[in-house]
Amino acid sequence: MNNFEFKNPTKIIFGKDSIEKLTDQIPQDAKVLMLYGGGSIKKNGIYDKVKIALANVDVTEFGGIPANPEYDILMNALKVIKEENITYLLAVGGGSVIDGTKFLSAAAVYDGDTPWDILINKVRTENGMPFGTVLTLPATGSEMNSGAVITREETKEKLAMGGPGLFPQFSILDPSVITSIPQRQLANGLADAFTHVLEQYMTYPVGALLQDRFAESIIQTLIEVAPKVLEDPTNYEAASNFMWSCTMALNGLIQQGVPGDWAIHMMGHELTALFGIDHARTLAVIAPSHYKYNFEAKKEKLAQYAERVWNVTEGSIDDKAYAAIEKTEAFYRQLGIDTKLSDYTDKFEGTAEEIEKRFEDRGWKLGEKQELLPADAKKIVTMAY
Ligand code: NAP
Ligand code: FE
Repeated sequence: MNNFEFKNPTKIIFGKDSIEKLTDQIPQDAKVLMLYGGGSIKKNGIYDKVKIALANVDVTEFGGIPANPEYDILMNALKVIKEENITYLLAVGGGSVIDGTKFLSAAAVYDGDTPWDILINKVRTENGMPFGTVLTLPATGSEMNSGAVITREETKEKLAMGGPGLFPQFSILDPSVITSIPQRQLANGLADAFTHVLEQYMTYPVGALLQDRFAESIIQTLIEVAPKVLEDPTNYEAASNFMWSCTMALNGLIQQGVPGDWAIHMMGHELTALFGIDHARTLAVIAPSHYKYNFEAKKEKLAQYAERVWNVTEGSIDDKAYAAIEKTEAFYRQLGIDTKLSDYTDKFEGTAEEIEKRFEDRGWKLGEKQELLPADAKKIVTMAY
């Protein structure tokens, strides 16, 4: 196992009716900016519950943060933070609203030229403006981690940021919020969390036995609850296990002491930036090709996953590893998620070259050994057409 230091300060408040507990989480003298997305919270009752819980707090609102939180829109929210002397942020939404709030937490205290620097210069935020979240969509794990991904439509970029100062102070996880989530987003949430685990697990083995089993148990739980969640989002047992699995998939626990890959996400972000494809769907496009391309480096772990998660007991290491890739692709498809770029756009020609060029310009090397070059990314993306 590799050395590590681990601290996750986010308080989780989990369960039915937990939004009521918001009242006790925010300092009474705070000037709060409540951030939300395109309005789903006004239809499903979450907005009203939050407003009731915050009845005694000074709250300003900023709605309209789109899926894939957009820099220009967030800059309007930053203006509100400055003009209204906001001291506390509250995200009410999915990964997009939470990530956008993390950007604002960082930007509110940033004293460089332009907040976009935080993304292009990978500025680590040590102390951001304090914020909490009310999660409305299990998927990203953003509710209990310190990372965010921000999109800029103008330049068709989607870049990651983070830092120890960007953990939410608290996150409220009420699994009953999933009853209003459309099927497409439920499938996205399952696929995103599933791939988060794979990114941390599917590397070369380092003897981290417990992390491996944590990772496998999260994947097994997601596989078990997926059909139940999709069939009946009012099934509270399935919803609560789904929600907690998504949080556990990316709150740092399974990342400790192991090498992380994350190349699937880095290539996937480019597909969202270029084509607007939902985040989780870009992962389903890239993952099978990524594992085929890096077969030799990852086959031991792929075979272990085939055995333990998919009960593939017959054949050689190579046979099992191939079966693992097939099972993974079949899982995405079972969720109703297409796994080829050409399923999403007919303008895919040239995408691999464009991504290669972007990675070259940024000097990026990917993967757990930072050995995947832009030319490798080009080949992987081509395989995903
Ligand atoms: P999302 O973009 O936050 O939300 C997707 C859609 O679901 C929106 O239209 C939203 O509507 C709707 N929605 C949310 N909750 C709902 C509810 N309870 N009922 C009905 N509709 C609901 O989706 P996401 O998958 O959570 O976030 C994706 C973003 O997170 C991407 O930008 C991705 O890159 C990023 N990400 C971040 C991390 C991280 O660790 N920080 C990890 C992976 C991905 P409204 O707009 O009306 O709210
Ligand atoms: Fe993700």
